[in-house]
Parts: sequence; C-alpha cells; structure tokens
Amino acid sequence: MIERDVVIIGAGVTGLTAANRLVAEGKSVAVLEARDRVGGRTWTNDIEGVTLEIGGQWVSPDQTALLETLDELGLETYDRYREGSSVYIDEHGTRTEYTGDIFPLPEASAAEIERLVTVVDEYVAKVDPARPWETPGAAALDETSFRAWLHTLSDDRVATDNVELFIAGAMLTKPAHAFSALQALLMAASAGSFTNLVDADFILDKRVVGGMQQVSQRLAARLGDDVHLNAPVRTLCWDDEGVVALADGGIEVRARQALVAVPPPLYSRISYEPPLPRRQHQLHQHLSMGFVIKVHAVYDRPFWRGAGLSGTAFSPYELVHEAYDNTSYGEEQGTLVGFVSDVHADDAFALSAEERKARVLASLAHYYGDEALRPVVYYESDWGTEEWTRGAYAASFDLGGLVRYGADQRAAVGPIRFASSDLAGHGYQHVDGAVRMGREAAAEILAALPQ
Ligand code: FAD
Repeated sequence: MIERDVVIIGAGVTGLTAANRLVAEGKSVAVLEARDRVGGRTWTNDIEGVTLEIGGQWVSPDQTALLETLDELGLETYDRYREGSSVYIDEHGTRTEYTGDIFPLPEASAAEIERLVTVVDEYVAKVDPARPWETPGAAALDETSFRAWLHTLSDDRVATDNVELFIAGAMLTKPAHAFSALQALLMAASAGSFTNLVDADFILDKRVVGGMQQVSQRLAARLGDDVHLNAPVRTLCWDDEGVVALADGGIEVRARQALVAVPPPLYSRISYEPPLPRRQHQLHQHLSMGFVIKVHAVYDRPFWRGAGLSGTAFSPYELVHEAYDNTSYGEEQGTLVGFVSDVHADDAFALSAEERKARVLASLAHYYGDEALRPVVYYESDWGTEEWTRGAYAASFDLGGLVRYGADQRAAVGPIRFASSDLAGHGYQHVDGAVRMGREAAAEILAALPQ
C-alpha cells in the first residue's frame, strides 16, 4: 500500500498541474494514469515519420495560465502559418478566396453576421464564465437550443448557419440543436468574447515547438516515480478520514484527499465505495463528450502556400468544415489539418476507412485543388475509440444542465474533488482551462489538508 497526502487520478494537464502545485507546497502525491503515456487529450506522436498533434495544440493570447506554464517549463511557441488568402465555400459549393475575418458572403448576410456577433457579444458580456448559471435570464437561455435562439435573433439562414458553426462544429462539436444558448455563451465568455472565438488568428494563434504533450511530459518528469502508468483506477473507497484508490496492477494508494482529474463522462467508470451522493449520480449523467475527427494530411511540400493560400478554409456546407496549415515547426513537408464534426463525424465513421479518406480528401480538394487528393501521410485522430476519453474535444451539459447542475459540478464529496478542463470557466474545454482547474483544485486540497 502506497501512502500519500493526495492521490490524483488522471495524468492529463489538470492532474499533473495539481500534482506539481501540491509537491511544491511540500505534500506527497501519487498520480495514477490509465494509459501507457501522460498527457490525456494532448498527444504529440510520430506518424509515418511526421510529427502530428493528435490532440490539443493551439494557444491563444488570453490563455495566460497555459502561457505561464509553457514559460515555466522552458517551452517555446511559434505562430500558426497565416500568410495569404483564406478560402470559403458557400451553400451552392462556390469557392471564394478572401482576406480578413469576414466571410465573402452576399453583403446583406455578411452585415447580418457582423450584427449577430455584436448581439451575441452583448450577451457574453453578462456571463461570468466561472458562474454562467448566474447570468441574468440564465434559465431561459439554458432551455433554448443555440440554433433555436439564433433563429429568434435573425431570419437570415446563411448568417445563422455561419454563426452557429463557430460554436457548434468548431468548439463544442455537438449539433447546434443539442446544447443551449447559455452553453454557447459560456464557450464564448471563456475565450473573452465571441469576437475572439470567430477570429482564427486569435483563438488559433500559436503552437508549442516540439508539441503540446511536452507540457504533461515535463510536469510528469518532475514527479518521477510518483506517476504510475497503466494504472486505471477502478475503485475509490472513501470516508471522512480519506480514500483508498485501487488501480490495475495491484496498485493501492491510501491518501487524505483524492482529485479525480478525468473527463467528466468517465467519472462513472470508477466504482465509489460508498456510492457518490444522488446529486453527483444525476449531475454526471448530464455531461457528455462532443465528437470531432481531426484529420491530418501531409504533403511533400505546403503546396497551397505557393498558390498564395494561408491554408485557412471554412464552410458550414463542407464535410471538412474548417481546415488550417498545420505544418510543424521546422518541417519541410506541408501539413493540412481539417475537422469533421458531430453528425458529420458519425456519418463518416459509418463509411469504410477508404471511403471516408476519399470523402475527406475530396473536401480538402474543394478548398485547395486536386493536389490535396495526394497526401504522403493521412491520419485521423479518432478520440471516439479511446477508452479513456470517448470523444473530442470535451464534455458539455445537455439542454438545461448548466443551470440545473452547474453550480455543483466541482463540489467536493468528502475527501474527493473533481477537476477537468471541461469544468473550467476561463479556458473552458482548453488546455489553459486544465491548468487553471489543476491550480484551483490544488489550492482547495491544500486548504483541506491538515497543516
Ligand atoms: P485529459 O487530458 O482528458 O486527462 C485525463 C486523464 O485521465 C487521461 O490521461 C486519461 O487517460 C486519464 N484517465 C481517465 N480515466 C482514468 C481512470 N479511471 N484512472 C486513471 N486515469 C484515468 N485545447 C486547446 O487548448 N487547444 C487546442 O487546439 C485543442 N485541440 C484539441 C483537439 C483534440 C482532437 C482534442 C481531443 C482536444 C483538444 N483540446 C484543445 C482540448 C484539450 O486537449 C483538453 O481540454 C485538455 O487537454 C484536457 O486536459 P485534462 O487534464 O482536463 O483531461
């Protein structure tokens, strides 16, 4: 039996940030990780000789907690490639090259999008991302789907299709009818504003030289043997005195406090003895993962750059609804990354692997021309099959769930606490939110531990 002050379940950025903070304050920890690697939803891997970011990768300027961590760990960032024109494909399949952040739409729809962004931002300004359930009118906003709410704000379907893309396909990765207007406002508020979210140059600003997974790898290296891999926690026994965590490989950790730092839909994969209270049993069933396929297509050179294209492409009407130049730092080959979201991802996975690849590449070719059909490496990040994640990017509440349960989502149960990027305010569903949650959880645990 290992004896520690704190047992941390999950070696993602949340769990490892908390562990490092606790150790810095003189506390002992054991981190139990289900996988054979640290990093969770950040994963930098070599695929057929090319370094790919299979999970989280981009950093935006407001993500100061992550930026501080990168600095502290000696990690450098670089700009996403963005020289040249972007591509937009409209509902008729017409392809247009453009510059700036306004899609090349008929004047009336473009003006309507600008108006909608302003209106949404007026709502966002009233949302405290740490307490969205306290927003004026929260109950009504949480019982209306984002799509239905946008339709009350505008009759211009081209405008609303485009506006919903920024939060539905691109962020929560659920169809816009499946989450509430309040949930959408939280997403925008967590990034500072809706204007920030629609600005790819802001929200997808920088990447980490060598890859985002290094954040976890460096945090874990500082903990040495206190990080146990291949150790999924199956049972957490608890009482007022503390916990005993039972993991595979016969690992048992007795601790005064436990931090469950796994994606919320996986809370119920752990058996709690005694069972969690009714409130958590209910609450945890209302958080579900979004679903997106991150598709990587690597070419022997970034051919689009020569054609004056930045690699940035959008269309609410394409299988790949957004795509970017994702060439890694210092690499000569060119990489495009595209995203296939929510119901489109369901449909894509109903196809054979060959057919899916053909459809994805055809969609990229609509944006960049036929050269996109011939990548030297093609790879799909499929987080839906990952037992210890089960979707991407992150978890969010169903309709009405934020107001009904949000205030209790981080409540401690005896010596057990819950933290995840998916429960964050600022940095919600992002690596930055994971750092913030890890810090907050560590502070709460320190306050709860005997001095
Ligand atoms: P996780 O990373 O999910 O870590 C939880 C850990 O718990 C995992 O290692 C898991 O294996 C482990 N675990 C689960 N169950 C158990 C158990 N029973 N016992 C022990 N261990 C367990 N964010 C950005 O900021 N920028 C991006 O560009 C971006 N893009 C993304 C792209 C993709 C494809 C994905 C999937 C995510 C992306 N994100 C992005 C989101 C970001 O990666 C996550 O928000 C963040 O990494 C979550 O960190 P976490 O520690 O809270 O959770």
